[in-house]
Amino acid sequence: MDCEKLNTELSQLPLLQYEFFKPEELIFSEHVRYICQTECPMYNTTWACPPAVGSVEDCKRKCLSFPKALLITTITEIEDIANMEQALATRPQHEAITHQVETLLREQNCETYVLSTEACAICPQCAYPNAPCRHPDRMYPCVESHGIIVTDLAEKYGIDFLAGPNLVTWFSILFFREM
Ligand code: SF4
Repeated sequence: MDCEKLNTELSQLPLLQYEFFKPEELIFSEHVRYICQTECPMYNTTWACPPAVGSVEDCKRKCLSFPKALLITTITEIEDIANMEQALATRPQHEAITHQVETLLREQNCETYVLSTEACAICPQCAYPNAPCRHPDRMYPCVESHGIIVTDLAEKYGIDFLAGPNLVTWFSILFFREM
């Protein structure tokens, strides 16, 4: 892998931060899954969410099967942080950047597994549960769907969720292995 090239390419993207880390550093929690199940309206509605993504144990096994991971974050300023519509409108840009980073890794001949934000919104109506996912190559389950404690990762790498008033911070984790 040409790390220098990758670092140069990453530094040219509008990322707030990126960090390479070992997947073993992640903390997986059944409690995060419980919150999905009991508080998220997207639970059991897409292939990108639980229970379709598998048990937390399955998710952990899959994440840890990759030797390396890359955390990326983006930040966007909006007029009013309390306005959920405005906050969510910043998400497609983060998803597009996540896809760009995945492409950079694939150009370096890496196999990837990507977790990003919220539930998948690629199709107006998800095919779940009656038919397979229409875009498995572009569908990114959200980080929390795998039981990952995002706040732990943020703390470890000095990422401030509340970086400032009216700033929206999004995270993605890209697991990868060189082929
Ligand atoms: S790509 Fe379409 S079918 Fe697949 S999870 Fe996303 S919304 Fe559902």
